[in-house]
Amino acid sequence: MNDLRKQIEQLVLQTLQELRPGMQEIAPLMQVSQLQTSSFTYGKRVPFVAANWKMNQLSASAKSFIIELQKLDRKNVQTVICAPHILLSQMAAERQYADLLLGAQNFYPETAGAFTGEHSLQMLADAGVNTVIIGHSERRNLFGEQDELLAKKLSTAIANNFLPIFCVGENLAERKNGSTFRVLYNQLTTGLSQIRPPFPDPDKIVFAYEPIWAIGTGVTATADQAEEAVAFVRERLVEKFSYAYAEKVRVLYGGSVNEKNTTSLAAKPSIDGFLVGNASLGVSTFASIIDQTAACKRMV
Ligand code: PEP
Repeated sequence: MNDLRKQIEQLVLQTLQELRPGMQEIAPLMQVSQLQTSSFTYGKRVPFVAANWKMNQLSASAKSFIIELQKLDRKNVQTVICAPHILLSQMAAERQYADLLLGAQNFYPETAGAFTGEHSLQMLADAGVNTVIIGHSERRNLFGEQDELLAKKLSTAIANNFLPIFCVGENLAERKNGSTFRVLYNQLTTGLSQIRPPFPDPDKIVFAYEPIWAIGTGVTATADQAEEAVAFVRERLVEKFSYAYAEKVRVLYGGSVNEKNTTSLAAKPSIDGFLVGNASLGVSTFASIIDQTAACKRMV
């Protein structure tokens, strides 16, 4: 069944390209998308909200953030703080609740050796870290990380029992010329290519749709745009894994999420939470995003 669907999608893409090179690809894929996602069981996935601090915070602000966050009720939202490497050990020492995850924003997929400036997963585990962001657009674009390296990072993270947050997303030109779904398809196909059975538990792998044009720009995808792309990501997971597996995997949205837009995005059934950059730097804003996510997901 999955093979048949894949063949149909490939045929649609191929035909479309032949008929209208460079033109919109979104419409026919959307139809397949809507058919497939309409029967997913929503509301069974634990919401997930991750802070991506990027190159921000110092030891004092990181310490007070984690202390303050732990005083608040996170309402069963799985919460992750992805901090700069140098702050992680200190934050692990302040962590009182095992369900508050600590994440790294980068690692190198080798155990040890001559990789100047890099950190292995073993080092991160030693520092108390169990989550990693992979494929963030800033790593892809500023640091030249290619799909093949990201595929290796993803399979290495899984093999080492880390929870990866694997990011995909199109740039503005790609969105405008209608190749959003093609970009997501390619990033996911290569990214997932090195994962082989036995697959990790579906709650041990997280995906994030992060349109580059929305990251750090203050421009957020509309709730409908985010929902459509997140649903598309989950369909690719059906192809790679299975329907039952994909139904359990959390897929996040990231891109200028803040206190004002969280509720409309979180109300969408496919969106299981958020990867939050700027708005995760202050504890009260981040906590508000967690609260709103929890409130919406209880209603779904
Ligand atoms: C991010 O860094 O993943 C991100 C989504 O950043 P921002 O929320 O600032 O757009």
